[in-house]
Parts: sequence; structure tokens; C-alpha cells
Amino acid sequence: MIFTREIEIKKQTQVCIVGGGPAGCAAALAAARAGAEVFLAEAHTCLGGLGTAGGVPVFMTFSDGENFVADGIGREILERLKAEDTGVPKHSNGINPEALKRVYEQLLLEAGVEFVFMTEFIGAEATDGKVTQAVFNAKSGLFAVEAEVFIDCAGDGDLAARVGAEVMFGDENNQVMPSTLTSAWAGIDWDKYLKSGANPRKILFKAFEDGIFRNNDPHHTGINQTGHHLGGGNMGHLFGLNPLDEKSLTEGLIEGRQQAVEFARYYREYIPGYENVELTATASLPGIRESRRIVGDYILDLEDYKARRVFADEIGRYCYPIDIHPSSTDQQAQDEFARLISSLHYKAGESYGIPYRILTVKGFDNLLTAGRSISADRYLQGSIRVMPGCFITGQAAGLAAVLAVENSGNVRCFDIAVLQQNLKALGAYLPNNC
Ligand SMILES: Cc1cc2nc3c(=O)[nH]c(=O)nc-3n(C[C@H](O)[C@H](O)[C@H](O)COP(=O)(O)OP(=O)(O)OC[C@H]3O[C@@H](n4cnc5c(N)ncnc54)[C@H](O)[C@@H]3O)c2cc1C
Repeated sequence: MIFTREIEIKKQTQVCIVGGGPAGCAAALAAARAGAEVFLAEAHTCLGGLGTAGGVPVFMTFSDGENFVADGIGREILERLKAEDTGVPKHSNGINPEALKRVYEQLLLEAGVEFVFMTEFIGAEATDGKVTQAVFNAKSGLFAVEAEVFIDCAGDGDLAARVGAEVMFGDENNQVMPSTLTSAWAGIDWDKYLKSGANPRKILFKAFEDGIFRNNDPHHTGINQTGHHLGGGNMGHLFGLNPLDEKSLTEGLIEGRQQAVEFARYYREYIPGYENVELTATASLPGIRESRRIVGDYILDLEDYKARRVFADEIGRYCYPIDIHPSSTDQQAQDEFARLISSLHYKAGESYGIPYRILTVKGFDNLLTAGRSISADRYLQGSIRVMPGCFITGQAAGLAAVLAVENSGNVRCFDIAVLQQNLKALGAYLPNNC
């Protein structure tokens, strides 16, 4: 069928960002502070993406062991969160999701970003390699936004895919990493747990013998402290979930909620300090680790990681290991995961360069991406996808968008050294450039 409608152009802006996760927020902050008019649309009810609505309970590393590589907006967000009185120990990078939602909101409000919740990007128009309008569905109905530059921070590459940009998806069998429905827990006695020295990853095998779980999944990340007596559970895998298919997503959410009941029993019966633990909620956003990867002017790959590559157009450097969760519970998949994560681990002070060209969407003059959908092979996506990595690519996309606006909207028509200088002024870690 063909479905046509005349819709209102509700907004004309300089930079339009789809998605308000770590990447979208960093992009919006960088662009607005550099003087651009920024509109950000978020489909969910808050900012922060997987780090808030998705319940991911801790930031991965901001440092390579010697240098604070996710510096700039990443550092600022971390410090603002740590300044909140949440009960999360100050030495940890644990996330109290309610506090983090407010931190993002305050930062974006202070920067003058116009953002709206419950506003889903559903389509776009593009002519001659230029995106002209993005279409959104909200309670008020359908509307369009015109912008000079668009940044796709939806995580799933929705904007790029809708305008026909080239995308990659999964492995040779179209399989992506398993997802996880995270969970929120109350009533944890953290002192007792920590003093006990118990390791839930090891005790798990006893629970397997006792038949606590329907599916014995040995890859267990566990629960991080998110408040005085609160924890965020990043555990359980939804194998075979297709993040681009609503039926598969629905089945995954139902399965994740069943897994949470099994974890409640496991922690209550086997782990000291958890005797009174209660499940308060499963996340409102499914935890999608991997979805579309948008093809840019360069595809960052495993060889770049191994070489600790330096690029002339570097916009940052990062160091998190290659963390591709196994696609099943079988031993071979688990062994390959362990091999990858340990064999390619960097030493302190080592990192790989992130070229600007992985943000510029191939074939489009005014379209950028940032976050977990950047142009990388599966290995590199398995590293850069964590939130500090998303802050690095997000802030670079935001500043690049401003330079593009100043240069007739073209994301390739400015001097990369100026972008690098602007990033350095923001605090970005760029030891090899300028
Ligand atoms: C289970 C799990 C555990 C993880 N553990 C860690 C960890 O411990 N530490 C760490 O640092 N990282 C971790 N990560 C990785 C990290 O959380 C994500 O990769 C990161 O949040 C990606 O940021 P993003 O901004 O690219 O996308 P997201 O965080 O996914 O944000 C995208 C945003 O876009 C919105 N959106 C999507 N589609 C549309 C649309 N069509 N219109 C409008 N808005 C839209 C979404 O609602 C969302 O808010 C984990 C990921 C998962 C899934």
C-alpha cells in the first residue's frame, strides 16, 4: 500500500539529532554550546538511552590506565553524576538511573538544547545525498523537522537506514550479539555482601546443578550498586533477539522478565547480603548491544585495534577490550568470547585512534552518526559501543555538525584541524594531533 499525508514542518533548525542516549546527549551538548540551534527527539520518556531507561548500571572505563581518554563531555557527565547524593560509592562508576536522567536533562537545558520526549523518528526525505527533512510521530501527530545537519544517534541507525544509507548488520549469518533485559533490585545489604567475598559468577554453577535456571548461561555480569540498598542487574541473555523486529523484541522482553524471576531466587538463596532482595522493575528499554552499523567513509576494524592505529583525522582514542558477547551458552562460543577479550587486551596507556570518517555517513553530505551505530566492524563495535566511547564520538559529531553548518551544511567541507582544536578546547584526549 502507499500511505501519503501532508504534514506540518514544525521546526527549522541547524542541527537535528535523533536519539537522546549517551551519544545523542554528548552531540547535543557540544553543538549547542558551540552556538548551534539544536533540536533533539527522543522516542522514550527520558534522556540517557541504555544508561537510564535501559538500566545499564555502570559506566565502563573512561581511562586507558594512564590517560582519561573519554575526556570533555564524558568527564563532565561522570562528575555531575558523582556529585549527586545517590548512595553509589564515589570510587565506582555505578549509575543511579534517576539521578543520571536529571543530570542529562539539566545539562541539556543549561546548554539551550530543545528536546522532546515520546517523539519517534519514523522517516526522512533526502535528495542528491542531502537529508532535507526528518519525520516524527508524537502525541500531536506526524510532523517534520528541517535541518542543515542531521545526526543519527538512535543506536539502531534508523535515520541512516530510512534514507537508504548503506548499513552492516551482525555476522555472516546476520546474528547480532545477544541482548539483555536489565533489572533493578532493592533491599541489598552491600556491606554484608562485600564482606562475604562471595562471587555470584562462581556460585552460579551450584545453582545450575540445583536446577534454578531453565537455561544455564555461564556468562554472568552481575549486579552493580546503584543506591544505598539498590542494585542494577546486567545479567541474562536474550539469544537470537532481532533488534529490528518488533515481534522478536516482544518475545525477548517476555523472556527477560521470566529470567529476572529466576535471578531473584538465585540471589536470595545463594548470595550473602541478598536475603531480602526484591525485584523492583525490569528495564523499560531492552538492552540492545548491537544493531545496524552505518557505513561511513571509513570502517574502523580489528587491524586498527591491534595496531593501536593513529589517524590524521583522529577525533579521540579509546581502549575498552573487544567485548562480543557469545551468541549461545555452548562451550565453544563461551571459549571464543574469553579468548577474544583476554588475548586482545591492551596494556595501560594503550589505545586506538577514532577517525572522523567513521562518523560521516557514506554518500550523504549532511548526515553524521555517533554512538553504537558508528562505522566499524563487529570487533571494534564490540569495544567503542560502551558509554564512554559513545561520549567521545557524540561530542565529535556535535562539534563537526557546527563546523558543517558554518560551511554550507557539508560535513566534509571544513579543515579537520579546526575540529581537532575545538575538541581539544572541550578537553578531548587527542595526543597525536595539532
Ligand atoms: C545489556 C547491556 C549492558 C551494557 N553494559 C555496559 C556497561 O556496563 N557500561 C557501559 O559503559 N556500556 C554498557 N553497554 C553499552 C552502552 O550502554 C550502549 O552501547 C550505549 O548506551 C549506546 O549509546 P547510544 O547513545 O549509541 O545508544 P542508546 O543508549 O541505545 O540510546 C539511543 C536512544 O535513541 C532513542 N531512539 C531509538 N530509536 C529512536 C527513534 N526512531 N526516534 C527517536 N529516538 C530513538 C532510544 O530511545 C535511546 O534513548 C551495555 C549495553 C547493553 C545493551
